Amino acid sequence: MTSLTYKPSRVVIIGAGAVGTTTAYTLLLRHRATELVLIDVNHKKAMGEALDMNHGLPFVGGVKIWAGDYEDCAGADIIIVTAGASQKPGETRIDLLKRNVGIFQDIIQKITKYNRDGILLIATNPVDILSYVTWKISGWDARRVIGSGTLLDSARFRYLIGSHKEIDPRSIHGHIIGEHGDSELPVWSLANIAGTSLDFDETERNEIFADTKNAASEIINSKGSTSYAIALALDRIVAAILLNESAVLSVSTLLQDTNGVSDIYLGVPSIVDRRGVREILDLPLNDEEKSLFKRSADLLKSEISKLDL
Ligand code: NAD
Repeated sequence: MTSLTYKPSRVVIIGAGAVGTTTAYTLLLRHRATELVLIDVNHKKAMGEALDMNHGLPFVGGVKIWAGDYEDCAGADIIIVTAGASQKPGETRIDLLKRNVGIFQDIIQKITKYNRDGILLIATNPVDILSYVTWKISGWDARRVIGSGTLLDSARFRYLIGSHKEIDPRSIHGHIIGEHGDSELPVWSLANIAGTSLDFDETERNEIFADTKNAASEIINSKGSTSYAIALALDRIVAAILLNESAVLSVSTLLQDTNGVSDIYLGVPSIVDRRGVREILDLPLNDEEKSLFKRSADLLKSEISKLDL
């Protein structure tokens, strides 16, 4: 007689705000894990959110969701961190840094007290610096500390190119790399549709990139926060990990001589599988892109140098 063993998959989300709850809801609808845990300093809010989602289970099924505590990180496959202060209108992501580093020093120590071998997925801004800070505080292998990076920016870029060309954005290959923020850059030299390079003129390129870069501010100015697309981006990373996909995603990861840049977390196309970031793709950037990428790295390094890590 064969015995069936059941191993639940658990995703913990720290921060039950706009991003955390929309991510939980997306993971729920897509049945990404059998257990979803919401943790928030405002436990009452996390409880209300979990209860609301539980009432949808008769329509979805197959998932256990609860508002938990850091003990629930034990055995979790992935811990997503969306906790922290969010961007106010007119505020840059770097402005958030000092507030969120303090919060992370507390949260990451609490997580790693109960979990040593999961994957930490960071979304809180400024995401590249906080991913680096998380890597330092946790002492984990950098492959298992991942930031959402420029995956969302790349999605916005692909969406906008697709709209101009009237082509499904899933058929557009294009990447935004570098900081998830003001110093990010579009890799126009490699953007393509089925290997065909894009015939945009300078004005169209500038317009598409400006719309990509300003998308977050535009949404924050109109509805207060961004949530749906980032939730889908986080869900995409979770799927790549739990399904061992080896998918190429522009996540934030520790660079070691990637296009001449080292010792910093930045968004670059990377191969993501069950172990986290398996490999970084060293893109054949042109000289202008290389120098912008280096500038983005230098900018973040100078911010990190002001921190007491
Ligand atoms: P929010 O204010 O709605 O939610 C933040 C939540 O964190 C709140 O529920 C708050 O109670 C909780 N929190 C604060 N301190 C905590 C602590 N010490 N422990 C546990 N929970 C704590 O904000 P949001 O709109 O959900 O945004 C969350 C973060 O995600 C922000 O930093 C935002 O800039 C970032 N974000 C990143 C991306 C990306 O592409 N990486 C996209 C959108 C938003």
